[in-house]
Amino acid sequence: MTETRSNDQLSQWDHDHFFHPSTHLGQFARREMGNRIITGAEGVHITDREGNRSLDAFAGLYCVNVGYGRTEIAEAIAKQAHELAYYHSYVGHGTEASITLSRMIAERAPEGMNHVYYGQSGSDANETNIKLVWYYNNILGRPQKKKIISRWRGYHGSGLMTGSLTGLGLFHNKFDLPLSQVVHTEAPYYYRRDDLSQTEAQFTAHCAAELEALIEREGPDTIAAFIGEPVLGTGGIVPPPAGYWEAIQTVLNKHDILLISDEVVTGFGRLGSMMGSDHYGMKPDLITIAKGLTSAYAPLSGSIVSDKMWKVLEQGTDENGPIGHGWTYSAHPIGAAAGVANLELLDRLDLVANAGRTGTHLNAAMAAALGTHAHVGEIRGEGMLCAVELVKDRDDRIFFDPSEKVAPRVVARMLELGVIARAMPQGDIIGFAPPFCLSQTEADQVVSVTHRAITDVLG
Ligand code: PLP
Repeated sequence: MTETRSNDQLSQWDHDHFFHPSTHLGQFARREMGNRIITGAEGVHITDREGNRSLDAFAGLYCVNVGYGRTEIAEAIAKQAHELAYYHSYVGHGTEASITLSRMIAERAPEGMNHVYYGQSGSDANETNIKLVWYYNNILGRPQKKKIISRWRGYHGSGLMTGSLTGLGLFHNKFDLPLSQVVHTEAPYYYRRDDLSQTEAQFTAHCAAELEALIEREGPDTIAAFIGEPVLGTGGIVPPPAGYWEAIQTVLNKHDILLISDEVVTGFGRLGSMMGSDHYGMKPDLITIAKGLTSAYAPLSGSIVSDKMWKVLEQGTDENGPIGHGWTYSAHPIGAAAGVANLELLDRLDLVANAGRTGTHLNAAMAAALGTHAHVGEIRGEGMLCAVELVKDRDDRIFFDPSEKVAPRVVARMLELGVIARAMPQGDIIGFAPPFCLSQTEADQVVSVTHRAITDVLG
């Protein structure tokens, strides 16, 4: 149908009727900002209706991990839609795809995590996680142990609870968030530490001490869980300082606090390891998965539940009847079929190893090209994640005023030069999270375009 519409007409409908997420609504409605209508994609490139082709160095929203145009996944989706587009998964119903996928996820999850609850988005999977944590503590007879700790700059979604967990002001302001059951602790962001004299090890100890102090202030008996991404994502693409997860885990164990590892970005290979929790030796009780589960070929998310929690959930249903939690689209067959085909493809093409290899190359090449630039404060990354943090003054670590919109200007220039990166929402941070099939030549192109755009904008 769209082929018969002119660009002008589509564009008009877009401005008049489409409520875009994370968009300046006034500017969009008044046509002060443009739109971009995407028509196709192949490998690591997307194409728009004007015929512009861009290298997508952010894999959509760090989700198209296997790259675009994979016929194996498209065919699995089509086959599932023809045979059985939908049936629910309530009261013991399943499909070959949803059951097979559950087994495949359990095989890839850390030891002792063997059950998966499915949703459609990272946000709803985290909502599920919090409900499971509350249910767990109620069944264990400790109804006061309910608060959830998350980190400033953490990103866990934009629902009511998950938007509260998200530690970014933009997601709270004017929405009456965060909800009262959520408390935030220090972001493990060494480059932005307050005390510049701290070593990385001292900063890790400081983060653990801050957490401990928060728990003591709130009362350990009131804290149910801690949620964190193995690598801070939307908050700035920040790998943890050395020893961080070990130090945090020690504090949590001491106070009998559950750990939720939000692997919406890191799950299924982005760090060059299958799971970020294993990458950092975390011992989570729940893991959130989404994006990389299907490489975004269909919406599907999940909560992976540890055996420790599972036992209590079983006890809960023995005492109270069936679990009162379900979505119409839990384990949607089309999403599940996409998930099975996607995980098979990751294995067959050895894409997790490639994410590690090419990601290391990308980070090293970025550091070589820009590591001493006067306006680059830090280049950091892990696996196929990379960030370039721009500063006004590198020696004294002086940040730009947000009103200068430095990162958005650099990213806009990069787009003109044919590469998509993301200006992360808080700070002048250029983020990269390419598909795992990125070649080294393409990684070099990303680096040279970044270098040129920074030079064009900042000199
Ligand atoms: N958790 C993390 C770590 C994320 O990065 C995101 C999205 O970017 C979410 C949760 C929320 O996922 P969704 O946007 O699918 O609701």
